[in-house]
Amino acid sequence: MHSGRHFLQIPGPTNVPDRVLRAIAAPVIDHRGPEFARLFRDIMPGLRRVFGTEDPVVVFPSSGTGAWEAALVNTLSPGDEVLIAETGHFAAQWARLASRLGLRPEVVPGDWRHGADPDAIGRRLAGDTRSAVKAVLVVHNETSTGVTSRIPEIRAELDRAGHPALLIVDTISSLGSMPYRHGEWGVDVTVGGSQKGLMLPPGLGFNAISRRARDAAATAGLPRAYWDWDPVLAANENGFYPYTPATSLLYGLREALVMLDEEGLAAVWDRHARHAEATRRAVRGWGLEIQCADPREYSASVTAVVLPPGHDADQVREVILGKFDMSLGTGLGRLAGRVFRIGHLGHFNDLTLAGALCGVEMGLQLTKVPIEPNGVAAALDYLRTS
Ligand SMILES: *Cc1c(COP(=O)(O)O)cnc(C)c1O
Repeated sequence: MHSGRHFLQIPGPTNVPDRVLRAIAAPVIDHRGPEFARLFRDIMPGLRRVFGTEDPVVVFPSSGTGAWEAALVNTLSPGDEVLIAETGHFAAQWARLASRLGLRPEVVPGDWRHGADPDAIGRRLAGDTRSAVKAVLVVHNETSTGVTSRIPEIRAELDRAGHPALLIVDTISSLGSMPYRHGEWGVDVTVGGSQKGLMLPPGLGFNAISRRARDAAATAGLPRAYWDWDPVLAANENGFYPYTPATSLLYGLREALVMLDEEGLAAVWDRHARHAEATRRAVRGWGLEIQCADPREYSASVTAVVLPPGHDADQVREVILGKFDMSLGTGLGRLAGRVFRIGHLGHFNDLTLAGALCGVEMGLQLTKVPIEPNGVAAALDYLRTS
């Protein structure tokens, strides 16, 4: 039994604000009645603003993985080649999902310390004179490494090559936390989820859909039923769904969007950037290494911290959970045991971060990881003066 609030500092699911929890606690309503249509219409403008688009956004009752699948089955056909940048564990999982759907993913190799390489993607597309590649898949914020890919530069490479492939981007751990512009950046499908920057529980998946993606859907041949955009978009015209939507979570979404609007999206992005910088100063104050190798690609929502050889990141996490009731992100895939991840996204402020970093510093000391005890002090200096 722990008193006080659990510190949920994994990079999603994130802490849900009390306002959102109260909104979700409202009685369940008839999803075919007028109140639901009002709820739906309240949500859509704010949701489009978060994606940075005028395009339709389909909201599925699903995990982020479901929204990944939806993006592919609506736009592609069996055997289609898709290019996917190997940024880390989530990119690898998405590639696996693509091949299980009968697509042929071609991986643009990466070292899990950098974002997707725009030049490598550009070279591959320039050589694809028959336009065999039907889509380029990029994870905007690779949650397993804390590295953000430069989507506008990737778009520019597609344009330079004059290549017709669709650009499909996973923003599950960046949306609502860092600058993102589905429309301006020319993204065809943007994939999102509820449980990270949007401050909701898990359970909603999103697809923002460009005109080109809708056109591709008209001829795409992969089987689709539940994930089919068309019936959802048709019912959405009148504020409804072809099946039972997650009404309670949509109440929460309406409230979360109001909160993002009250703070202002630009201010929300700045807040995340500032907390990420404070976190990195703490890591350097400990004398530890950050997994992300390129400062242009630092994630504003999650920082992966590399432990010195011979030290087990999961043991550090276990001690911190047991002693200080704080959850940190585990190392995923090939980073298992070698990194832990600090989530600094969503419903979060200076003192939440200060508390989280205190827990990490004490945990590192308790597990005898050789650190300098200057991380918290460096972060507090920055928070005080910035
Ligand atoms: C969390 C996450 C996912 C998976 O989302 P689920 O809701 O767990 O299915 C996919 N991609 C990224 C970048 C994520 O952070």
